[in-house]
Amino acid sequence: MRQLMWFRTDLRVQDNSALAAAMQAGPTIAVFLLSPGQWQRHDDAPSKVDFWLRNLQHLSEALAQLNVPLLIRSADTWEQAPQVIAELCNEHEIACVQVNEEYGLNESRRDHAVADRLGEQGISWRSHLDQLLFQPGSVLTKAGNYFQVFSQFRKVCYSRLHTALPPLVALAKKQQPLGISGDTVPTAVAGFPTPDESLRHLWPAGEAEAHERLETFADEQIGYYHEQRDLPAKPGTSQLSTYLAAGVISPRQCLHRALMSNQGEFESGNTGVITWISELLWREFYKHILAGYPRVSRHRAFRQETEALPWRNAPKELAAWQQGRTGIPLIDAAILQLLATGWMHNRLRMVVAMFLTKNLLIDWREGERFFMRHLIDGDLAANNGGWQWSASTGTDSVPYFRIFNPVSQSQRFDPQGRFIRHWLPQLSGLSDKDVHQPAASKDLFNRVDYPAPIVDLSSSRARALAAFKNLGETQHPPLFPDDGVAPWRD
Ligand code: FAD
Repeated sequence: MRQLMWFRTDLRVQDNSALAAAMQAGPTIAVFLLSPGQWQRHDDAPSKVDFWLRNLQHLSEALAQLNVPLLIRSADTWEQAPQVIAELCNEHEIACVQVNEEYGLNESRRDHAVADRLGEQGISWRSHLDQLLFQPGSVLTKAGNYFQVFSQFRKVCYSRLHTALPPLVALAKKQQPLGISGDTVPTAVAGFPTPDESLRHLWPAGEAEAHERLETFADEQIGYYHEQRDLPAKPGTSQLSTYLAAGVISPRQCLHRALMSNQGEFESGNTGVITWISELLWREFYKHILAGYPRVSRHRAFRQETEALPWRNAPKELAAWQQGRTGIPLIDAAILQLLATGWMHNRLRMVVAMFLTKNLLIDWREGERFFMRHLIDGDLAANNGGWQWSASTGTDSVPYFRIFNPVSQSQRFDPQGRFIRHWLPQLSGLSDKDVHQPAASKDLFNRVDYPAPIVDLSSSRARALAAFKNLGETQHPPLFPDDGVAPWRD
């Protein structure tokens, strides 16, 4: 019985649940849909689309080794996906389509529509847990709701891991040739300009590269992760998010490798390993939130009362933030890092997000969209989670009165200004003290080509506090009717 493996954000052959299931069930053909119209709607970054294409090339070669042809089809938006997949199934007499689950609202709707359409033609649909360690809807509170507090969610994850560690999925054996040729993978898609070679060079494609990063990190860095993860001038984090977001590596592979470095322990032993696994669980948490609270996919605030915040319409300040011209060196260096590399260090994502939403009092949705348009690791769940955490509008977010001061953050996490000097060479001649706040010294400031701060940190902080205080005490509004209960998945 012929199978169709529909690849989406799972661009690998190793430890791939749906691919293994398809190849076990019968002769398998693979497909990837090019959906530029949908990607535009989702604000997917050109660098991310380019990364997908580059990985598809590797995937196509790896699949060819297994005699699985990779076909490329177009469905400009996902409304067209049922038709395109159904036609492909007819053309190749497919009995079953196999996919790995994706959790955004549009992704779920797309899959329902495709499954329904195939059902009408008597073609089966099998979806698999793969992007996550635990099925959304399977880690719930005693009352049967999704967790809203990370530490409680993590505790249940730990107890699950103790009893049943999600195993790696074995790669199926090479199948008999099908006599079908794979399609040429395009090197570019209209509407998504190819990024600079320097950016592409930072993120080589392919499973081998992802595993090399994981190995190097696990061998050399993971033990220091808890000490160095907040220092943007050091390579203290894995830089695997790009590979995880595209599914070039799986969270199971990351977890198993981390456990190898800590005698199989995830709650005790090496603090670096424990902390890193906890970050993998943050990833897990936000995807469960996405599945459990569909309003997150609609860009609604998780805490409904915060929809009433008086966000400022300040296009000039927004543009200064987006271009790295705020006059606060750490903020500007972070944005320049994002624009040049498609990636930003986690500590800086929090600092720039808090600056935009608190000091500038600009709607977190502006920042979320801007990040999505530039991040090579852009992921709806993590990005929305991070933005709503920083804006104090989200689940388990930072209390609104704990506003980071970007200058203190700079002094604390980039004490010698190494990160700042790298991205803002015009400040390289300043002392370690002045580099965080060049405008503080008038004399010196006149000599550097750098803007004055666009906002006063202390009065803007007070403005944000007042805005949040005015929201009143309605901290736990009722849930939206479709939120928080286990969805159709069991
Ligand atoms: P490591 O520190 O090595 O962590 C390992 C993995 O754990 C990461 O690759 C990532 O998959 C996961 N992870 C780590 N921290 C988080 C977190 N806070 N939330 C969710 N997952 C996490 N991450 C994305 O993958 N895509 C995004 O679009 C994204 N947007 C963000 C926006 C904001 C405002 C904030 C504050 C955070 C965002 N993050 C996002 C989370 C985090 O910043 C990145 O995952 C991390 O910087 C990636 O670097 P790394 O791979 O070296 O992470």
